Amino acid sequence: MLFTFDNSYARLPDDFHARALPTPVAAPRLLALNEKFATDLGFDPRALSTPEAIEMLAGNRLPPMAEPIAMAYSGHQFGHFNPQLGDGRAILLGEIVTPAGARRDIQLKGSGPTPFSRRGDGRAALGPVLREYIVSEAMHRLHIPTTRALAAVATGEFVLRDEVLPGAVLTRVAASHIRVGTFEYFASRGERVSLQALADYVIARHYPDLADEADKYEKLLEAIVARQARLIAQWLLVGFIHGVMNTDNMTISGETIDYGPCAFMEAYDPKTVFSFIDRQGRYAYANQPSIAVWNLTRLAECLMMLFSNEAEAPERANAALAVFRPHFQEAYLDGLRRKLGLNEAKEEDSALAVDLFERMGANEADFTLTFRRLCAAAEEATADADVATLFKDPSAFAGFSENWRARLAQEGGDGPTRASAMRRTNPAFIPRNHRVEEAIAAAIKDDLTPFHTLNRVLENPFEDQPEFADYMLPAHPEERVTQTFCGT
Ligand code: AMP
Ligand code: MG
Repeated sequence: MLFTFDNSYARLPDDFHARALPTPVAAPRLLALNEKFATDLGFDPRALSTPEAIEMLAGNRLPPMAEPIAMAYSGHQFGHFNPQLGDGRAILLGEIVTPAGARRDIQLKGSGPTPFSRRGDGRAALGPVLREYIVSEAMHRLHIPTTRALAAVATGEFVLRDEVLPGAVLTRVAASHIRVGTFEYFASRGERVSLQALADYVIARHYPDLADEADKYEKLLEAIVARQARLIAQWLLVGFIHGVMNTDNMTISGETIDYGPCAFMEAYDPKTVFSFIDRQGRYAYANQPSIAVWNLTRLAECLMMLFSNEAEAPERANAALAVFRPHFQEAYLDGLRRKLGLNEAKEEDSALAVDLFERMGANEADFTLTFRRLCAAAEEATADADVATLFKDPSAFAGFSENWRARLAQEGGDGPTRASAMRRTNPAFIPRNHRVEEAIAAAIKDDLTPFHTLNRVLENPFEDQPEFADYMLPAHPEERVTQTFCGT
């Protein structure tokens, strides 16, 4: 049997989910199968590309052990509470346990309406499906926790958005799809018993070490806060902008989820926003840590209802939320040190990085390329020129470079070793927005070559791959993507 499911979420009480069958599509066609990932999950990739398997990945045929459900959740969207969201265009087929012993959700996204669809059609357009495929896999290769993409299937049907677009279904794999909004769903209804059942389920599935702790719900909050703090630090270190950090798009497992209008920053600017709907810049690059805290505060409000000492609950919740800052700072600063090639931690490191960022910001230097070219400069001072050309005023780099070299000299160590360590942390390749758009535009015209090439390049983001040097480069002015859309 292809999928050996063990569906623990479906066994939770009825108010956690709604039974929902995928709606068959006209003409399923496999666009992409993530063969390496399939193997890691314990599948034979050949078995996943048979006509029967493709029908399963399209929602036309149900795997024998599937218990398809749409999960219930609420969420704060751009600061406003929406009590009834839920999987409106995604269906959880079931859970598998990988050969390594990890439990993973297998979900179809774009597989037709569910009881939570409201006015939506339950479908996904090809573009957003391929974007999620490319970017989530790229994030994984950048060592950032994320949901994964197992397959993408064209439906042979059209979906109506602002225009008529080809439809597709993504097979998404996650440690779980439980969100901050899942807790808000029960808390907002005053359903304490369900809320506790959810918390216990989360502990068993994601934080098993806490099961026997005395104040396990406080510890759970703290553990989730810590994971999110480290996740957001990792986003910032590669220039990632999620774009729609609503509480329903924040996981409890600490994985990045729901790639909508996401994008990577090119020219460094902390105020960067891509999402068309984010007119206020709520989810701008540099706002992401404080938005994460805002979201986690909503989670704290839910979990507080379970704290054993009611009188002290607010104080304890605040104490748990307060761990965000040190975890974020540590992960972020450690990351910056690695990006700069520093081994020892010193007080002034943060100022050194801030100085570089200010110079990058004032000179529109490309975030990814600046750090990548810094790797060569760590080995050979003559390579400074290649970094400097990324700055509108090339001389702006010199002031930083002088201080940086002075700092490196204090550490000792040899250049080649430092440069190769830096190359393992400063990627050469990120999914640049214009490349993603190019891959999508070609796929809409039935040419999947750019999509596959891009995925191949992004499999090894830390290797130079000279034959793909063009993929390292930022967009030309005329190719530049300034806005992104959810496309839902
Ligand atoms: P998202 O933009 O993916 O975070 O989705 C926000 C909410 O809208 C979730 O409850 C989705 O399930 C729902 N939703 C988004 N697109 C659709 C669609 N095409 N049909 C039904 N529900 C949708
Ligand atoms: Mg969502």
